[in-house]
Order: sequence, then C-alpha cells, then structure tokens
Amino acid sequence: MGTRRSYGGLDRFRIIAAVLVIAIHTSPLSSFTAEGDFFLTRILARIAVPFFFMVTGQFVLPDIISRRRGSERRLLRYLKKTALLYGVAIGIYLPIGIYAGHYKEITAGSLLKMLLFDGTFYHLWYFPACLLGVGLVYLMSRCMDKKGMMALSGGLYVLGLLGDSYYGLVEKVPFLSIIYEAGFQIFSYTRNGIFLAPIFLVLGAEIGGEQPVGRRKGAGEKSLSGTGFDALCFAFSFLAMTGEAFVLRHQELQRHDSMYLALIPTMICLYRVLLAWNKKPAKVLRILGGWIYILHPAMIVVVRGAARVLHMTELLVDNSLGHYLAVTVLSAAAAFGVSLLSIRLSRRKFACSRAWVELDMEALGQNADYLQSRLPKGCSLMPAVKADAYGHGAVSVAKALRQKGIRSFAVACAEEAVALREQGIEGEILILGYTHPDEFALLCRYGLSQTVVDASYGEALDRYGRGRKEKIHVHIGVDTGMHRIGEPWENIDRIEELFHREYLAVEGMFTHLCADDVLEKREREFTLGQARAFYRLAEQLRERGCVCPKIHLQSSYSVLNYPELGGDYARVGIALYGVLSTREDTRKWKDVLRPVLSLKARVAAVKELHAGESAGYGLQFTADREMRIATLSIGYADGLPRALSGGRGRVLVGGIKVPVIGRICMDQTIVDVSRVPRVKTGDEVVLIGSSGQEEITAADLAGWAGTISNEILSRLGGRLERAIRY
Ligand SMILES: *Cc1c(COP(=O)(O)O)cnc(C)c1O
Repeated sequence: MGTRRSYGGLDRFRIIAAVLVIAIHTSPLSSFTAEGDFFLTRILARIAVPFFFMVTGQFVLPDIISRRRGSERRLLRYLKKTALLYGVAIGIYLPIGIYAGHYKEITAGSLLKMLLFDGTFYHLWYFPACLLGVGLVYLMSRCMDKKGMMALSGGLYVLGLLGDSYYGLVEKVPFLSIIYEAGFQIFSYTRNGIFLAPIFLVLGAEIGGEQPVGRRKGAGEKSLSGTGFDALCFAFSFLAMTGEAFVLRHQELQRHDSMYLALIPTMICLYRVLLAWNKKPAKVLRILGGWIYILHPAMIVVVRGAARVLHMTELLVDNSLGHYLAVTVLSAAAAFGVSLLSIRLSRRKFACSRAWVELDMEALGQNADYLQSRLPKGCSLMPAVKADAYGHGAVSVAKALRQKGIRSFAVACAEEAVALREQGIEGEILILGYTHPDEFALLCRYGLSQTVVDASYGEALDRYGRGRKEKIHVHIGVDTGMHRIGEPWENIDRIEELFHREYLAVEGMFTHLCADDVLEKREREFTLGQARAFYRLAEQLRERGCVCPKIHLQSSYSVLNYPELGGDYARVGIALYGVLSTREDTRKWKDVLRPVLSLKARVAAVKELHAGESAGYGLQFTADREMRIATLSIGYADGLPRALSGGRGRVLVGGIKVPVIGRICMDQTIVDVSRVPRVKTGDEVVLIGSSGQEEITAADLAGWAGTISNEILSRLGGRLERAIRY
C-alpha cells in the first residue's frame, strides 16, 4: 500500500532555485571572493533553470509523448498560458528596458532575436525558451520514439555546449567558428530554447514518469538506499561539474557559463532526490517561486533606487552580500503579495450565481473524526469518494481528508481514480468495481488498486501483469451473500490461488454487507452471518499461508450499527457526508453527523398568478386563488429530481418552506411564494440545507422523491458551481 509520489519536494526546491537565480543576477560574493562567487553563481546556481525546465517537462509533456487523447489541447493551453505570462513580464520590464536604453537601435531582426531567444529583458529568455523547447519536443515526439528524442535533444545540448562553456574549442577550428558566429547573429547565446531546454524537458518527462522507487510495504529499505544512491550520485556529479567549470575557466575556454557536460547527470540525480523528498504539495510555494523569478530584476532596480534615496548605497549596493539579501527579501515579499492576489482572484471564479453547492469542510472533518472514534483500534477510514464524492467533489473532499491523515480512498471506476491522481491525490486508491481490460494500463500508469471481481477476472489481471515492471495491485472481492460482485466465499481454493498468482500483489480482501442498515432479526442474523463467513475465510487463508495485508467489510451503516466488526479499513461513504440514506436514520444520528453539503439557487423572477391561470409545462398546475410565484434557477439537469414536481417537493425561501408547483423543468423550477414576504429576483433559496429555523436534508428530498439520499447526492449535476468553506 502506500504513498506513491509527492511533488512537495519539487514545490520547495522551486524557492531555492528562484533564490539561486537571484544570485546569478546579483553576484552575492563578488565583494569578497571572485572564485567563490564564480562557484556560487556560475556553477551551483546553474542547476536552477534546468530544474524549472524539468518540472515543466514532467507536468506538460508525458501526455504529449504518449499521445494521450486531448494532450494537444492541453499543450496549446500551456503554450498560451506561458505566452501570456511572457507578455505580462514584458509589460513589467518594458519601462525599465526603455529607461536603461536597451531598445535604442531596434530593427525587425533584433526584435525577433529578442522575442524568440534572448528575451526582452535579461532574465526573460526563459519564457521563449520554454515555448520553443516545448514546441520542439512536441515535433520530435511526432517523428521518433523516446530514445530518438533523448538522442536528438542530447545532441542539441552538445552543440549548445560548444557555443557556451566549450566555445574555446570551436574557436580553434575556423570552419566551426564561422558557423557559430553566424549562429550568434540569430541568438546571443546557445543557452536557449533550441539547445538547452529540450534535453531537460525530455529528462523531466522521463524521470517524472518513472515509478517511484518502491515506497511500498516491504520495499522500504530498498527505497531508502535508492534515494541515498541518487544523493551520492548527485554529490559526485556536482563535484565533477565544479571541477569541469574551474578547468574551463582557467583554460579560458568559456564564452558563457550556463552549460556543462556534468550538468546532465547532476540534474538527473538531483531530480530523483527531489521526487523522493516526501513532503506535502504546497501550491503557494509553487506560485511564489515563479513570481520571485519574474519580479527579482525589478527589485534590483527598486533596491538601487531606494538605497540612493536612503543614503545606504554602501550597504545595499556596494556590498554584494547586502545587495543580494535586500533583493531577495524584497523579491520574496513582492512575490508573496502577487501570489496571494492571484490565488484570491482565481477563487473568485467560484461565484454563487445560479445554482451551487456549498461544502462545509469542517463538518466533513468532524464526521470523519466521529466515525473513526467508533472503530476499534487499527481500523482506519477508507472514504468512498466515488460518484464525485457523492456529488460533493471528489478532489476537494479527498484533499481535505488527506490533511486529516487519511491515506486510502475508494472509487467506483478507473476514470474516477485517474481524475484524482491527475489532481495530485496520492495514497492508495481502490477501484471497487469492474475495470475493462482495455483500461488495465491505467492501473499501472497511475498506481491504482483494482478489485478482483471474481477468480477468472483475477486470472485476466494476472495475464496482463506478465512482463510488466510492477505487479498489479489488487484487493480480492469476496461475495458473502450480496451476490453482486466478488468470488463466492465458499470457493476458498480459487481464492487461495489468487494469492499465488505471480503478477498480482494482493493488498487486501473485502466483502460488502448488504443488510446492515436494518436492525430487525432477519437482517441482523444475515449481516452477522456475512461477517462470520468472511472472517472464517480470512482465518483459513492465513492458515494456508496466504498473507493479506488489509481486510475490510464495513461501510457507513455497519460502522454505526456494528462497529465491533472491525477490519483494517471501513469504507465509509454516505455517513461521512453527514446524512444517512433515509429520513429516519438521518434524524437518529443528527447529533453526531453534520451535513456537509447545501444546495442553493437563486430567484430568477417573481410573478403574480391570478386564479384560473396555470404555470409551467403542460398546464399541470392551475391557481385556485391569487398567488405569488417565484422561478428558481435550478432544474432537473442540476440534479433536482423531476419527481418533486406537482407539490411533492419543498424548498426554503426566506427561511420558509414552500412547495414546488407545476413540473420541474430542465433548468428552472417554479415555487409558490405567496406566504413569503419580500421575495425578489436574485434572492438565495435553499434546496438542501438550512435557512432560518428550517432545514431540508438530502434525506428529506429523497423521501419526497421516493429514493435514498445517496441517489440524490450522487446525481447532483456537474453544472453546479461549488463554494467551499474550510
Ligand atoms: C459505495 C460503497 C461503499 C460506501 O457505502 P456507504 O454506504 O455510502 O458508506 C462501501 N463499499 C462498497 C463496496 C461500495 O460500493
């Protein structure tokens, strides 16, 4: 089981890399030691930009390289975003550049050179390099395989190297130096999108896509030594790079000092170490690092200006270290401000304008704590976040639960699991249902655990696993009486076989209780019988030497009604969201379980209806008196059941429960607001949740519609907006 991959290390190193870039542009040690400054800014700090390229490679390119569906659209989106950021940065630096006289003799050629290769301000070359590099790698991926791409981008790097720190060699060969001099008419340096970026983009995609060195149970020691080995390799490569750089410097071979031979192994090892650095992802740091990078040259200008005004040039400008520190602190502060602003702006998108759900994440956490408190020691929650976490939004729910230390999740199908992984959810994700063999590849690629729906399905999985790098991770489904999926518990021999299959890694075994919600005699006996059969099977398997790390059988109702049944996991769904399937059960547990979700919409129009007039489709409702009616901006396409039509459903308007009239439409619903004073367009109405003294639960809605709250919640439409309260 266990955590697969964490990007927290990358997020943190971004800050270090950004601070190293500031060093390149301020030479912190130049007042004290020229050699020391060379080491810091021309050797150590040279890992920063390749690192940024590798991160880009990891997150942008794998889909492109493996030609996944929709990858070209995503690539285009990335290119647009980067171009936009480049545009913003150009805007920021244009006045400074003009003031400094950078654009005095501008021609079409020099403009193109600046925009495509050199950047319009000295550090801005990075953005066109990203665009050019990613574009180039895309073209490569359409003409060759991974090995070819690696070879070609490596070749380009060597060509770049010869125009950079090895230029002295080129100068000795007249023919070559003519070619390079011609090249330097087009770009000022070879450290650009053509020669430097591609290799690191490709390496980032490759290393980022590697299965992490097993952080799985039993492989712990190997993983440690794996990372230790990478760290050692990093130290050696970096030492080699240092030697290389000093030799080149003393031989006076360098034209520029961005590219070294040993930089490649140094970056490979460093990146591996960073990926193994198991820290929580930190979005703020991710954004912050980028803004420090963009803003620091402006802060250099600010520090110089301020130092002059404050008469502190000696400390803040002439002293290289003081200058560096001032620029770094100021850049970090400015970047922090911009990051907060950009996060706030991006939040605004979740306006509550038409129809939306509001999520109370505090309630979610409390429900999780309560359910956990009922369980025996050693039994942990494996929340069911299938069906978009019962309409709550699987990613937000999983993220909130991960912060509480929950590490395992259950979903219904591979698509749901992949969606979670792509949003950065780590830990164990168990697919509870059937996955078609065409999608088995997703199990490996995303490190998912699959339910063995019966023994022959286990065979198919095993067959697929043959010859793969890693075994297929499975939980064996056992049927103890529900007769839905799972190998019948009586077939112990067939189940035992699954444990011996070479390409399956059995991580768990589970059954599902199907009558644990009713406490009558028949259901009680049936449930206890299911549990007995399951535990007997587990015991017999153990006696036969089958190791099964996790066994589980409970879901919401059994945690409430039979907490003593235990197991290693409880796959809780509905109760975690603070309701139960029926109105009676929800009421019974309302003191300890708080609803997480509210469903709201707005009044779109208020109308008077005279006696004898009808409203809605099919003339189904006719007024028998003077009425005031309101049209709400929510309909059955949003998940409001059409079965609530004709007065069966109620909604809260101004804290008063009012009936639905006529037929619910796809996008709108009409209610009777005759009893509600002062209703106006734009007012908020509550379909699930509380308002004033009144409350409508998902279970109430379900009762009116003749179903259970699980169905109501899981069918809430994807069109709903979402507002999250933490
Ligand atoms: C959906 C599901 C659960 C969660 O059920 P709740 O009753 O919502 O807690 C647990 N186990 C399996 C196999 C499921 O399909």
